[in-house]
Amino acid sequence: MVPVEKALQLVGNRIKPTQETITISMSDSLGFVLGKDILSPINMPPFRQSAMDGYALGSTEEKTFSLIGEVQAGDDKDPELKKGEAIRIFTGAPVPSEAKLVIMQEKVDISENKVILHESVKPNANIRPAGEQIKEGEIALTKGKTITAAGIGYLATLGITHIEVYKKPSIAIIATGNELVPPGQKLKHGQIYESNSVMLSSALKTSGFADISFYKVEDEYQATRSIIEKAIQQYDVVLISGGISVGDYDFVGKVLRDLQVDEIFYKVKQKPGKPLYFAQKDNTTIFALPGNPASSLSCFYIYVLPALQKISGLQEYHLTRTTSISNSEYSKKGERAEFLKASLKNDKVTILDGQASSMLRSFALANALVYLPEEVSKVNPGDRLQVINLP
Ligand code: AMP
Ligand code: MG
Repeated sequence: MVPVEKALQLVGNRIKPTQETITISMSDSLGFVLGKDILSPINMPPFRQSAMDGYALGSTEEKTFSLIGEVQAGDDKDPELKKGEAIRIFTGAPVPSEAKLVIMQEKVDISENKVILHESVKPNANIRPAGEQIKEGEIALTKGKTITAAGIGYLATLGITHIEVYKKPSIAIIATGNELVPPGQKLKHGQIYESNSVMLSSALKTSGFADISFYKVEDEYQATRSIIEKAIQQYDVVLISGGISVGDYDFVGKVLRDLQVDEIFYKVKQKPGKPLYFAQKDNTTIFALPGNPASSLSCFYIYVLPALQKISGLQEYHLTRTTSISNSEYSKKGERAEFLKASLKNDKVTILDGQASSMLRSFALANALVYLPEEVSKVNPGDRLQVINLP
């Protein structure tokens, strides 16, 4: 059995970012990590652009200008503009080559085709020079950057349609257990609904992992072995739910050992989630998660999600940890470190009722986990606690 911090460290050390890149369209790229620097294919803005609705002026000394024409956004024209002449112009329109500045329409009076100024003007005012934001050939975003909505917008302004990103892992979820039936069917005595696969796949989707396949297997050695063996060959990551405890019908541990995976740890000194198993074989990462739903999801957030994020090239691959003041009193029963479903509000944290590993109700209400390290045995209101924000 390894302590929590050691288990986290082992996951962090063993998981390596992928080197494999793929080219995807901008609209699918949210949350991916850039596998290559992106150079701007154009100047942005592409031309001298008006930043205001107003008048482009042909000189700076006069106070009265003759209005000789108009340029609208999208116009493809470059009218001549002499000293003492002005052209009506709008935000985003190309500024005539000879214009010295653009003056805001609010700052002038118009009378009989004359533009009349009341104050002195500054050369280049209200003009966005071509390439002001970025010039053609300059680096727009660097390799390693995670693509956000703003990033997608920014690259779209440069006309980019496809980018090279690190491939996200393909993931298999294998649910074990004779007692499990899909929601929607009527339960027979002794049966329960299978909830871990939909829960885990939803947690995966929340964090941008979409390549997910599902398997269900009975508690039987050979069937378990053949599914796990195939999954290890086919997927980058295999998540197994249940069957990893010490019961007579828990075959996952035996199968993994017989398949000669590289076992990195089995059992973590934590509650919930003690039977967590972490292994690798060839290029596949394997997590066997305890079947109890709350244990499964805790282990997912604490170990699996950071591992997946690191594989995908993310630099920040841990859930945000903060500290917060406890509203609650709580006594630990054993020695193990605990992860407690909690509600975090206005920097105060409340430990929720119903912490048993079989219960998801408190998890469904939680937005955070409180981490109580091994050495903490009692929590009092006012204590400062370590808190992990849930995505
Ligand atoms: P196990 O880890 O297989 O011993 O399962 C521990 C507990 O979790 C048992 O009560 C199982 O019925 C329950 N369980 C296991 N897998 C699932 C699942 N996929 N969905 C819901 N409950 C499960
Ligand atoms: Mg089971």
